[in-house]
Amino acid sequence: MNKKTRIRFAPSPTGYLHIGSLRTVLFTYLIAKSEGGTHILRIEDTDRSRFVEGAQESLIEVLNWIGIDFDEGPNMGGKFGPYVQSERKEIYDKYKQELLDKGEAYYCFCTPDRLQKMRENQQAKKLPPRYDRTCRDLSKQEIEERIKNGEKYVIRQKMPKSGEVVVNDELRGEIKFKAEELEDHVLIKSDGMPTYQFAVVIDDHSMEITHVLRGEEWIPSFPKNILLYKAFDWEAPKFIHMPLTLNKSGGKLSKRQGDVSVEDYKSKGYLVEALINFSVLSGWHPKDDNEILDIERLKKEFNYRDMGISPGVFDIEKLDYLNGYYIRQKDIDELTELCKPYLKENLKKTNDIEKQSDEYIKKVVAIEQERLKKLSDIAEITTFFFEDELNYDHEMLAWKKMTSEQAKENLDIIYELLEKIPEENWTNDSIEDSIVTYLKAKELKIGEYLWPMRVALTGKKASPSPFDVAEILGKGESLKRIRKVK
Ligand code: GLU
Repeated sequence: MNKKTRIRFAPSPTGYLHIGSLRTVLFTYLIAKSEGGTHILRIEDTDRSRFVEGAQESLIEVLNWIGIDFDEGPNMGGKFGPYVQSERKEIYDKYKQELLDKGEAYYCFCTPDRLQKMRENQQAKKLPPRYDRTCRDLSKQEIEERIKNGEKYVIRQKMPKSGEVVVNDELRGEIKFKAEELEDHVLIKSDGMPTYQFAVVIDDHSMEITHVLRGEEWIPSFPKNILLYKAFDWEAPKFIHMPLTLNKSGGKLSKRQGDVSVEDYKSKGYLVEALINFSVLSGWHPKDDNEILDIERLKKEFNYRDMGISPGVFDIEKLDYLNGYYIRQKDIDELTELCKPYLKENLKKTNDIEKQSDEYIKKVVAIEQERLKKLSDIAEITTFFFEDELNYDHEMLAWKKMTSEQAKENLDIIYELLEKIPEENWTNDSIEDSIVTYLKAKELKIGEYLWPMRVALTGKKASPSPFDVAEILGKGESLKRIRKVK
């Protein structure tokens, strides 16, 4: 009988969620959902030198923002806890002893100095850098004495000296490793804490994990994990190694080339929906090629068995495209709320957005909804809607070969036409109608009037249509802005 699926997301608390880890946690979540299983959060913090204050809290916060939940974990408990590795030392100690007693691991007293020399030696001889197994066969008595003398030690796994280790990956099938390429690696460090390689096996076994989903970069240590399961005589979970996501030039995603944390994307105004859709497409593809994937659809359609193994490419243009798509789908009230923090931030210096009614802000957002790629784009392009004084060069009022004098004369005509429109008729359509009808009747060039009108209203060369802008600004403010030019 198949065991009930138990899958974990096991991040190291770095203080932020890497964009690659977002994909991991989406997949663990989707596997749990699609298999009717349990989703577990485990914090892998055995590397105390990399401890970051508050990292766990900020991780949980960003996971909440994404909408990923867990059934078990440090903040909600569960019967397989603790869910934080640094609190599991007693468990590791017990299994370390068991492994030593079985003769599957050994004490190693080699000092960092000695190991350094050994490596230099190997390098000089062009040998692969590997622990030379000096301590593998120490006598029980010698071990006891050296421990008693206070010598520092690590615990190493005893790897087979010859033969082949065959492991099975759910996506790749069998992968074979030559035993002589495997090192007697460290399981317990000199500070008594386990390495990832030891803790991951102990935890996955003792938490009854059925599926391990992790990055392809862990494949080289896969045989070590499997040998540990064998040493303990435990059944190994299923392993799914996801392909890498590379940048466009084929390298690793790194801070130097741009944003790597989900928090960065959040603050730039990327929507959860877009980040989710974008992330899952790196590693999985829907059967019908319709790449618009919301979480509900994913919960129904996602199957890890269909995941690919060729590397994904981090294509920011695709993310922008998806973000624009989801922005256009938003209900205007919700989009306005999402945009407000960006508007506030941008206007802090010049004006106060609180002065404006919600209705007004909503109209400003609505007019830009089609064009936004990120929420943060709203700030710059709409500043003129909120400013009391527009600062622009009046030379800009002249269209093509016009002089600015002509532009000002044309604006007088626009002013008169606008003035005649009654307040209650002040809509983009009636504004357009009254201006265009007049210009056509007089056979005047439309651009020579609408261009100065746009610049007078916005102080910009590019903006939404001047009729839309005039409607939002209102009659009084529109006339005021045109009058200022005179
Ligand atoms: N702590 C590891 C990481 O952040 C987890 C790998 C695994 O899922 O086993 O990459």
